[in-house]
Amino acid sequence: MEADSRSEEEGAELLAQLGYAVAGAGYPRGLTPAQWAALRYLSRANRFSRTVSAFAEFHATTRGTASQTVQRLVDRGFVQKNPSAVDGRSIRLDLAKKGRDTLEDDPLSDLVAAFRSLQPAVRARFVRTLKELVARLSQVRGGRSFGTCPACLHFDCDGRCTGDSAECWCNLFEQPLDVAETDELCVNFEPAN
Ligand code: SF4
Repeated sequence: MEADSRSEEEGAELLAQLGYAVAGAGYPRGLTPAQWAALRYLSRANRFSRTVSAFAEFHATTRGTASQTVQRLVDRGFVQKNPSAVDGRSIRLDLAKKGRDTLEDDPLSDLVAAFRSLQPAVRARFVRTLKELVARLSQVRGGRSFGTCPACLHFDCDGRCTGDSAECWCNLFEQPLDVAETDELCVNFEPAN
């Protein structure tokens, strides 16, 4: 009973410990942890979500801080700014080749390898649990919960998402979706139930 009452704090402390381990990897390639986080985010986010404000939401930081982080990456050639195809007034952020190449050397790779060493079923359960924790924390703090198309209220696939054709549809943006895009993170995700 005593162990149970302590498990919440222990879980939070262990997650924080993992965070310190990641932050303690230093500044490889001269990039700060926030800049690494931005590169990772841009490699995972869909075209509707590769914006400064969406990254700010994801990284739980202010728009100003996120903007500085991104601008430094743009200045150093890791990220490119392009006009948004959805909204002509917005800027979409895309990883440049230098950014994609740099992610091959991600300091998070040690943690990825540790994850890989877990049994697949344990790993899958852990990832589900972490996603739930992130969503609950975001809810408590009034933030958005990111997710992917298959579990989204706005997704219209009707079982046609196979092969390479763009047969999936986003009802929110009224845009077709490539199959590969449906696995990318979206800031406009809303759980289907
Ligand atoms: S279906 Fe949902 S998750 Fe997919 S692009 Fe549209 S809003 Fe985003």
